[in-house]
Amino acid sequence: MQLYNTLSAEERAIMIDDAGKQRLTLSFYAYAKIQDPQKFRNDLFIAWNALDALGRIYVAHEGINAQMSVPAENFEAFRETLEAYDFMKGIRLNVAVEQDDHSFLKLTIKVRHKIVADGLNDETFDVTNIGVHLKAKEFNEILDDPNTIVVDFRNHYESEVGHFKGAITPDVETFRESLPIINEQLKDHKDDKNLVMYCTGGIRCEKASAYFKHHGFKNVYQLEGGIINYAKQLKEEGLESKFIGKNFVFDNRLGERITDDIISQCHQCGKPCDNHTNCENDGCHLLFIQCDDCKAAMENCCSTECLEIIHMPLVDQVRLRTGKQVGNKVFRKGKSENLKFKHSGELPETALATAQKPADIRQKIKVKKVLLGKAEHYYVKAQVGQFTIENQELNSGDKILISGPTTGDQEMILNRIIVNGAETQTAKIGDKVTFEVPFRIRLSDKLYKIVN
Ligand SMILES: [Zn+2]
Ligand SMILES: [Zn+2]
Repeated sequence: MQLYNTLSAEERAIMIDDAGKQRLTLSFYAYAKIQDPQKFRNDLFIAWNALDALGRIYVAHEGINAQMSVPAENFEAFRETLEAYDFMKGIRLNVAVEQDDHSFLKLTIKVRHKIVADGLNDETFDVTNIGVHLKAKEFNEILDDPNTIVVDFRNHYESEVGHFKGAITPDVETFRESLPIINEQLKDHKDDKNLVMYCTGGIRCEKASAYFKHHGFKNVYQLEGGIINYAKQLKEEGLESKFIGKNFVFDNRLGERITDDIISQCHQCGKPCDNHTNCENDGCHLLFIQCDDCKAAMENCCSTECLEIIHMPLVDQVRLRTGKQVGNKVFRKGKSENLKFKHSGELPETALATAQKPADIRQKIKVKKVLLGKAEHYYVKAQVGQFTIENQELNSGDKILISGPTTGDQEMILNRIIVNGAETQTAKIGDKVTFEVPFRIRLSDKLYKIVN
């Protein structure tokens, strides 16, 4: 019985593209009492793997917390796998507003001590005595009440690109840090103010609201389903958004736009920008905000040091990072003094710029392209790519497109092509061709010719 992934992320991305099926990005959580989390985990893996569901899921004795991508056509079947458990009957699935077929590329289900690393000792307070759940409309109303204090229970890199107007945005890197800070800051308002809290999907507030009630706060409220669900209700009910900017999410999109306001800056040049990225240097992986110009100039790196490192031969890169701690291996969420325009703590309330509508998506569809072949290898130091020509010949002077999940869509014009070590005008079907590619490409990136 297969209980773990057998495909790499790249192979999966290609399969998803080839299948051409629409996928839904969704998240959900449920607190419960689970006797055997390992068995629960294995049962879910078998059921979901069969439905081609992907994502990052944590299960524990206390419940389940999931962020997933599910083929649209399997959505009902997927819901049935949840409804099979009593504690998930009628569960609310937060379906993302923006969709990206590559939001997740693996099915990873982990058994953890807890479903959220909140650092709380659950034995010391009643975790079921939670705050009042508010829907979007009610949430907007309570924000208008002068007696309301609204607190963002996310981290500094999340609040930086978007938050509710007037919210306290603690300068913290983890959820557990924010609880005592807020408790101290608001200690004189336990009786007279409404403590209103929100987070990405609602899960963090479930515990936080119980924690604050335990600490004597009388009027505790929480945004039901978090910002994700709030955004959905805005659309459905045509409500005014009191949230400005982007909702940061931990899938490959790194953010879902709620309003067109850009409230943060490129950390390198200060231009209005709210696109997070993680540093190209595998030994760094810093999560930061970078505009397209800086991305091109810095080759997706956070600093000149990292830029130098990615141009070293791979063996030297590996040697350099041996023994170094790289955060949680996905992102290093810390701050760096190289980033001059990083903001945290008190954040702006007004837009610095308006996001462009993604018109370029439609333009890309208009471009006619013909598939020629696929990438076989990339020589990092020489910046040369090798491709196999499979469908149609390639000529010197052709305008080409190299496309893949990590590479994105990169266009360039070919000046010099080499087959079997010699410069040539035409590479034929079956040839292995090499040419200079000024950016890193990945195995199995597709090579297209652009025809106008
Ligand atoms: Zn910039
Ligand atoms: Zn870096």
